[in-house]
Amino acid sequence: CGIIGYIGDKQTQEILTTGLGKLEYRGYDSVGIAINDGEAINVTKAEGRLENLASKLSDKPLNGTVGIGHTRWATHGRPSDENSHPHTDETTDFAVVHNGIIENYQDIKQELIENGVTFQSQTDSEVVAHLLSRLYDGDMISTIQKVIDKLEGAYALGIVSKYEPNKLFAVRQASPLIVGVGEGENFISSDIPAVLEHTRDVIILEDSEIAVLSKEGVSLLDMETANPIERDVFKVDWD
Ligand code: GLU
Repeated sequence: CGIIGYIGDKQTQEILTTGLGKLEYRGYDSVGIAINDGEAINVTKAEGRLENLASKLSDKPLNGTVGIGHTRWATHGRPSDENSHPHTDETTDFAVVHNGIIENYQDIKQELIENGVTFQSQTDSEVVAHLLSRLYDGDMISTIQKVIDKLEGAYALGIVSKYEPNKLFAVRQASPLIVGVGEGENFISSDIPAVLEHTRDVIILEDSEIAVLSKEGVSLLDMETANPIERDVFKVDWD
């Protein structure tokens, strides 16, 4: 229902939870974040309101400057801690937030289970994390292309990986996603208001595009060819 992501120098937990608060109006049944601290990806998530997540985080804060967050509106699997996003592969090399529906997830899940993968949730989204792990070939872009090739349906994805701790990846196919362009920091979000306190420079992703964010910059690639795409940054002039 809502995606937020951050890469920069600031403590990410605060930026993600504030951003999730701004996405609350979209409605949700659970909420969660994953932060890459450079060594490991740590995930905290909770059924219910943002306060539930905030109280888990106040007991055990997550450090790091690269991360993704999600407010969920369940379509596959009841609202629960396990079904909340982000989802990870078995060794937490990847964490994923997803908006939309992976229509063919049952076939993919069946095949993964036959190959020995253990699932933690009942969601359609979790297949993406396991596919990333299974198809990882040493290059995140070609791996993401291989994963996308298997997916049918609507998805906006935010992805962090242990293999590329200084990058944040985003994919858009029939679900909204924007990039907020800052100075020495960049953002992804389902909508513009959630990034406005940080930047007014925005790139609106179009379908079949991958965005690669680092602290220093943002590049857009065509999902099929991986060719770079030029897109002007759009200056938001409303409040
Ligand atoms: N289909 C996914 C799920 O049920 C994502 C739902 C959403 O967009 O919030 O977990």
